[in-house]
Amino acid sequence: MMRVTFVGVGEAFDERLPNTSLLVESGGSSILLDCGFNASCKLWEYAANPIDLDAVFVSHFHADHYFGLPALIARSIEEGRTKRLTILGPSGIESRVSRLMDLAYSNALSRAGFEIFFIECVPGEDFKHSGFRFRFALNDHSMPCLAIRLDAGGKSLYYSGDGKPTDDTVDLAGNCDLVVHEAFTLDEITTGHGDVGTALEMASRSGAKACALVHMRRTIRHTMMDMIRMAIGTKPDVNAFVPEPGDVYEY
Ligand SMILES: [Zn+2]
Repeated sequence: MMRVTFVGVGEAFDERLPNTSLLVESGGSSILLDCGFNASCKLWEYAANPIDLDAVFVSHFHADHYFGLPALIARSIEEGRTKRLTILGPSGIESRVSRLMDLAYSNALSRAGFEIFFIECVPGEDFKHSGFRFRFALNDHSMPCLAIRLDAGGKSLYYSGDGKPTDDTVDLAGNCDLVVHEAFTLDEITTGHGDVGTALEMASRSGAKACALVHMRRTIRHTMMDMIRMAIGTKPDVNAFVPEPGDVYEY
């Protein structure tokens, strides 16, 4: 069984919705997908055992996807975490997070009762960690962004991070139980971002069993939900939904 908690569903600067962040749990293991500056403390609101988190995956180096790490790490230190924490991300993840910690809470790591272990993720290089099989592909975004697929216990999850789908990401998402895709705009074509129609098309092409739309531009998400639902209605083959923070999808 896989359990996905939508810790945050927002874009970078939404005053109502925390940055998109997913807690994925399976077989006693847990991983947080993206950790933005206003989402990371929400883990403590929604996770049963936040200091038991096994790993954090960073899709790319935009602040709304990883600047929450200092808060997550510092709070874990405060609460006496002892379990090793794995941080996975694109090339450069270790130096980025080390610099970020140094700027945010210098010397905090010297007080940590746990080790941080870094893994650099490369598209095409699959591996198993913390009970999950990890696979990656590059999206079309303004900087390299890793879409991720997790498989565990016969269940699968795809998360786009930021960016428009590519042939590689459609392949990666093939027959996934749940595709979580960013849909920054409704139908306006924006460089380096998905939109509702493109995300639904992607989910359909990949044969996904369900599709959650996240990371919507705040103006669209707050005022045009009727249009979004209408767009979803035009794709009846896709079981699509728009999650709220704290929603849980279990399968
Ligand atoms: Zn981004």
